[in-house]
Amino acid sequence: MQSGTLTLFFASFVLASLLTRLWLDHRQARHVARHRDAVPAAFAQDVTAHSHRRAADYTLDKLRFGLVSNLVGTVVLMGWTLLGGLHHLNEWIREATLAQVGPLGYQLALLGAFGLISALVDLPLEAWSTFRIEQRHGFNRMSWRLWLGDQLKQSFVGVLIGAPIAALILWLMGAAGQAWWLWAWGAWVAFSLLLMIVFPIFIAPLFNKFEPLKDDTLIQRIQALMQRCGFRSNGFFVMDGSRRSAHANAYFTGLGASKRVVFFDTLLAKLTHGEVEAVLAHELGHFKHNHVLKRMIMMFAMSLGGFALLGWLSGQMAFYLGLGVGPNMLAPNDALALLLMMMALPPVMFFVSPIMAAFSRRDEYQADAYACAQSSGRDLANALIKLYKDNSSTLTPDPVYVRFHYSHPPASERLAAMQALGT
Ligand SMILES: [Zn+2]
Repeated sequence: MQSGTLTLFFASFVLASLLTRLWLDHRQARHVARHRDAVPAAFAQDVTAHSHRRAADYTLDKLRFGLVSNLVGTVVLMGWTLLGGLHHLNEWIREATLAQVGPLGYQLALLGAFGLISALVDLPLEAWSTFRIEQRHGFNRMSWRLWLGDQLKQSFVGVLIGAPIAALILWLMGAAGQAWWLWAWGAWVAFSLLLMIVFPIFIAPLFNKFEPLKDDTLIQRIQALMQRCGFRSNGFFVMDGSRRSAHANAYFTGLGASKRVVFFDTLLAKLTHGEVEAVLAHELGHFKHNHVLKRMIMMFAMSLGGFALLGWLSGQMAFYLGLGVGPNMLAPNDALALLLMMMALPPVMFFVSPIMAAFSRRDEYQADAYACAQSSGRDLANALIKLYKDNSSTLTPDPVYVRFHYSHPPASERLAAMQALGT
C-alpha cells in the first residue's frame, strides 16, 4: 500500500460524505419548508396548523445547526489528520511522558489528551444546541449549572470506563502477538456486555432519579401485558427526564436479571394508560422479535471486522504516513493506530448507514405490528401522534433523507402500516 493512495482514498471519502450530508440536509430543508403551511391529510384531525409550523421551524433550525457542526467536524478531522494535528500532539506528548511513565503511560496520555481536546471542541456546539435551539423551541429545561455538572460527570464516567479498557487493548496490542486483534475484540465484547449490565444500575442513576412507578392501576395493566407477552421485569421505574428536556420517551433496558422498564415522567404526563401500554408493547415487540440480540450480534460482527482491519493496518507504515502522522521509531504506535482508525472509519461507514437504517425501520414495523396484536392499535396510533406533536418532529420529511438518516419510519408510513393491519 502506498501512503499517497491512502491519502487520496481518505480525502475522497471525507469529501464525499460531507457533500452527501450537505445535499441531504438541503433536500430535507427544502421539503419541510415547502410543506410548512399544510398539515398532511392523515393528521388533519389531530395536529393544528400552528404546531405543524412549529415542527417545521424546529426541524429547519436543527438542520442549520447540522450544517455548522458538519463543517466544523470536517475541518477538525482534517486538522487532526492531513494537516498534522495528531502528529504534533503525539511528538509533544511522547517527548513529555515516554521517559517518565513508559510506553503504556505515554500511549494512555496521548489518548487522554486527544479525548480532552475533542471534548473541548465539542463543548460550544453542545451548548449551542441546548441553550439556543432546544431553548428557543421550548424543550430545554436545563440550567447552565446542571449542564456543566453533566459535562463534568460525563467526562469523569468516560475516563473511569474508558481508561481500563483502553489500557487493556493497548497492552494486548503490544503483548498478544500477531493475533492481538482477536484478543482485543474478545476483551471489547466482554466489556460491552458488562457495561450493559452495569449501565442501568450504576451509571444512569448518576444523571437521573429513578423511582418505582406508583400508579397501581397502570402497574396492573402493564403487568398483565407483560404476562400476556411472556416477559418478566425487574421493576417499573419512572425517570425524571423532565429535569433536562421536555422530550418524552420510554425504554426497556439491561441484560438478564437487571432488565427493567423505564418511563420518562414526561411520557406518563402526556399519555393515557392505554397509550402507555401500547408504547410498552412496542418495546416488548423488539425483544420478542430478537431485534436487540440481532443488533448486538451485528455490532459484534462489525467490530470483529474493524479489529481485523486494524490488525493489518497498524503494521503498515503507509497507514500512518497516509493519514498525516509520522509513526514512532522508539515507542509503540498502537494508540496512534487506534486514533487514526477511529477517525478514518466514520466517513467510510457513512455510506453503509442507509443499510443499517433500513434494517432498523423494518424492525420498527415489526414492533408496531406486535404492539397492535398484543394491545390496542388505536392507542398506539394516538400515542405516536402525541409524541410526534410534543417532540415537534416533522410529519413531512424528504424521502431520500429518510433513507439515509431515519432509524424509525416517518409517522405517516407507520400509521398507514398499522391501518393496513386493520386497527
Ligand atoms: Zn421501536
